[in-house]
Amino acid sequence: MPLYVYEAKDPEKGCEKCRNGFEIPQSLSEDKLTHCPYCRADVFRVICAPGLTHSRTDLHYRAKRAGFHTLKRVEKGEYEKIY
Ligand SMILES: [Zn+2]
Repeated sequence: MPLYVYEAKDPEKGCEKCRNGFEIPQSLSEDKLTHCPYCRADVFRVICAPGLTHSRTDLHYRAKRAGFHTLKRVEKGEYEKIY
């Protein structure tokens, strides 16, 4: 099953899981999550470029530390992170 990454739309309202993003296995036929399964905060799906998944955490962490990441709107409720 593919792993999907979700992150809180508003980190202020998220729990410790979704504030920094969490991974969840979902089949392709499953609907994407709109709420965090832990705290019910609004979440969006982060699309990871194939092959970069293993280094995502590090990249993610560094981008956040640097304070710049841009979200490109892909479709309703779905965003792609541009570093
Ligand atoms: Zn949460």
